[in-house]
Amino acid sequence: MHTQTLIIGGGLSGLSLAYRLQQADHDYHLLDARRRLGGRIKSLIVGDVAVDLGPSWIWPGQERIAALLPELGLHAFEQHAQGTQLYEQASGEVMQNAGFMSMAGALRIGGGTSALTDALAARLDPSRMTMNAQAAHISDAPSATLADGRTITADRIVLALPPRVAADLTYAPVLPQIATLKSIPTWMGAHAKFVAVYGTPFWRDAGLSGDASSRRGPMVEIHDASPEDGTFGALFGFVGLPAHVRAQVGDQVQHAALTQLTNIFGAAASKPLTSHLEDWSAAAFTSTAADATPPTGHPPYQMPAPLSRVWNDKLIFTSTEMAPDNGGLIEGALAAAEHTARKIL
Ligand SMILES: Cc1cc2nc3c(=O)[nH]c(=O)nc-3n(C[C@H](O)[C@H](O)[C@H](O)COP(=O)(O)OP(=O)(O)OC[C@H]3O[C@@H](n4cnc5c(N)ncnc54)[C@H](O)[C@@H]3O)c2cc1C
Repeated sequence: MHTQTLIIGGGLSGLSLAYRLQQADHDYHLLDARRRLGGRIKSLIVGDVAVDLGPSWIWPGQERIAALLPELGLHAFEQHAQGTQLYEQASGEVMQNAGFMSMAGALRIGGGTSALTDALAARLDPSRMTMNAQAAHISDAPSATLADGRTITADRIVLALPPRVAADLTYAPVLPQIATLKSIPTWMGAHAKFVAVYGTPFWRDAGLSGDASSRRGPMVEIHDASPEDGTFGALFGFVGLPAHVRAQVGDQVQHAALTQLTNIFGAAASKPLTSHLEDWSAAAFTSTAADATPPTGHPPYQMPAPLSRVWNDKLIFTSTEMAPDNGGLIEGALAAAEHTARKIL
C-alpha cells in the first residue's frame, strides 16, 4: 500500500491531523497500535455515560479546542467546584477548606473527553484508518514496517507518538536523534487515575464540592468527575504512590482508594456502582520504563531543533510534546497537528 502521508498514532494529534488533511482532500492513512483510537484520551463507559480516565480539563483561552468543539457539535461545561473542599490529614482526620486549590475555572467536554476523539474519528473515512497496526520500523524510503510484517510506503511519515515511544522504533538509517527523543518525558505518563461511579453525586447534597486533597493517600488530589447533567455521580483521584510501588501492591491500591473515599466523603462512598484504576505508567504505546519517574514540573515542551527537519521532512514528529505552545496538553496536541498540517499542505 502507498499513501501520500502516513500518520502513525491515532491519539488526538494524529486524529486532528488526519481531519485537517481530509478537509484539504489530501491522501493519508492513519495507523494505531491499539484496537481503539484516542491514545491518552480514554473513558470508562457506564451505561451511556463516559468517565474520563485520561485528561479531563481544558481551559479558557485555549483557542484551538474552543473552535474545534462547536465544529464537531460538542461543547464545554464548567468543572463542578461549588461547595466545601476537604483535606485529609496523614492521621486520617478530615478538615474543611484547608490547604487545597480547587479546579474551579477549568472546563470539561460534554460527553467526556473521549467525545472529542470519537467525533474526529467519526468524520474520518474508515478505509483510511487501520487499528491493531503497530509500526515497528521506519525507513527513509520512506516506509513503515508493522510488527506483523506488513509494509506501507508513503511520500512522508508522521509519527504522532509520545517521543519516548517513537524512540523505541527502529530506523534505517539509524536516527542520531534517538537520545533527544528519549530525553522528552511523556506528559502524565507516570500517573494513575482512580475513578468511582455512583448513582448520584451524593456529596453535593451534603454541600461538598467533591474536591479533596490528602496527605494520607493513596490518592493525593480528588475531584468531581460527574457528567454535566448529574445523572450519575463520579469522583476521580490522582494516585500519589510512585509507579513502581503501584506495580508491587497491585489491587490493594483500589481497595485503599475506596477506603479513602469513604473516610473523606462518608459511607455512601463505600459502595460505587463501579470503580476503575487506570495506570498510565503500565500502558504500552503511551509510557516507557523511563516515564515511571515523573518530571519535577511541567516540562518546557517544544520541538527540539534536531527533530524539526528529519530526512528532509519525510519524517515529521507530531505529538503534544512537540507542540509550538501548550505542550503536553490537549491544546498542544491540536497545536502540533496544526503545525504539521501547515507544513504538509
Ligand atoms: C492521566 C492523564 C491526565 C491528563 N490530564 C490532562 C488535562 O486535564 N488536560 C490536558 O489538556 N491534557 C491532559 N493530559 C494530556 C493529554 O491526554 C495529551 O496531551 C493528549 O491526549 C496527547 O495526544 P497525542 O495524540 O499527542 O498522544 P497520544 O494520545 O499518546 O497518542 C499516541 C497514539 O499513538 C499510538 N501508538 C503508540 N505507539 C504506536 C506504534 N508503534 N504504532 C502505531 N501506533 C502507536 C497510541 O496507541 C496512541 O493512540 C492528561 C494525560 C493523562 C494520561
